[in-house]
Amino acid sequence: MKTNFEIIIVGAGAVGTTLALLLAKEGLSICLVDKGSPDKITDKDYFAGRTSSLNLTSIGMLKDIGIWEELSKFSTPVKKMFIWDGEGDSNIEFQSKDIKETSLAYIVSNNAIVAELFKKFSELNNLTILTNETVKNIIQQRGNAQCRMSSKKVISGKLIIGADGISSTVRSIAKIPIRTWGYNHTAIVGSVAASKPNEKTAWQVFTSSGPLAFLPFDQANGANFSLVWSVNKERLNSILDEKKALIATLEARSELRLGNLNILGKTLTFPLNQLHAKEYYKERVVLVGDAAHTFHPLAGQGMNLGLSDVFSLYKVICYSRRKGLDIGIDTVLTEYEQQRKKYNLRMMALMEVFKYGFASENSWIKLGRNFAFDFTKKNKEIRKLFIKAASGVI
Ligand SMILES: Cc1cc2nc3c(=O)[nH]c(=O)nc-3n(C[C@H](O)[C@H](O)[C@H](O)COP(=O)(O)OP(=O)(O)OC[C@H]3O[C@@H](n4cnc5c(N)ncnc54)[C@H](O)[C@@H]3O)c2cc1C
Repeated sequence: MKTNFEIIIVGAGAVGTTLALLLAKEGLSICLVDKGSPDKITDKDYFAGRTSSLNLTSIGMLKDIGIWEELSKFSTPVKKMFIWDGEGDSNIEFQSKDIKETSLAYIVSNNAIVAELFKKFSELNNLTILTNETVKNIIQQRGNAQCRMSSKKVISGKLIIGADGISSTVRSIAKIPIRTWGYNHTAIVGSVAASKPNEKTAWQVFTSSGPLAFLPFDQANGANFSLVWSVNKERLNSILDEKKALIATLEARSELRLGNLNILGKTLTFPLNQLHAKEYYKERVVLVGDAAHTFHPLAGQGMNLGLSDVFSLYKVICYSRRKGLDIGIDTVLTEYEQQRKKYNLRMMALMEVFKYGFASENSWIKLGRNFAFDFTKKNKEIRKLFIKAASGVI
């Protein structure tokens, strides 16, 4: 097996896989490593697991790399968003036609993204894939970095990219410091069949116990929504204990706006944390996606920002390589960090405002959020700006 690469990417989630395809298409020799078997995902898994609401910028990127035509067959457009305050009587509606677009976002299965990217790999011979494998150590050498793998293989590259998610091993090995805090919340996700049609509308209600979203997602098994409910950890077991009670709670929280509900298949849970790496690179190691920053999913931005990281790093690497520079040096990687860090931090701060603003029982804060809802609702230009930002048009 080849052991010397230009780039080693650790983590073949949607972010690492997209970056691998882009760089390999550019002619770089790439090794993509994952601790699981993402190459084994089949069409049957397309409606299992997590979904992501991808904004129009991300969809544009997936079009550019040539997977959107196929992926769109398994995705559902969001034409409208209806958001309301479950503790008050404020609500707001955003429509794609307000910004002269046909949709605001698309709901896409994470498994489908990875599988469609893997299908494209067969066209490339400069990409090596190592599955059921992880990095145990990274040793700096002159002009490259050597990775010692769990299988005892040794591979080297000019640059090691950590795309291995929130608990990034690459980040730990490189000793990149982080700032992180838990929410004491867990997300429950699942497939929901509602008696009313989804009307390509995303419904989201903010309650004091956490945000609850029903994302329109037409599935082969008859489900028409993807559920994402962020709940307090202490309440988790009692909520998941009994399916009938869970359905009744969801119907009550959604105020029957979607009609009667049924949960199809199993629900999955994900503990929610916010995390930000204080540095995005160090000694030939660079971080992208959830390895660099993890957000609360309430505004559906984690994957969108991860894909923006990917395109930024891809452009920086290609530009530097064309100029004949060593792609693993700090002067190259600092350019990527400068492009992405401030933007990711701004989004992180905004998420905190939303999260605490809607969780608060304080009557002044409640009054403030009702004012914010009404102000945005009445002010057409502010509303347009908000929709454009959320759908990635600006
Ligand atoms: C409930 C929920 C809902 C969400 N909804 C949205 C949404 O609507 N829109 C949106 O934009 N974002 C959303 N997000 C966030 C989004 O899912 C993540 O930001 C995105 O999946 C991150 O992708 P990633 O490839 O960076 O990391 P991951 O998806 O975590 O992938 C990491 C990969 O690395 C591999 N790996 C891990 N450790 C190692 C190791 N040591 N060695 C080798 N491989 C390793 C894993 O097997 C995996 O394949 C949501 C998140 C949650 C929890």
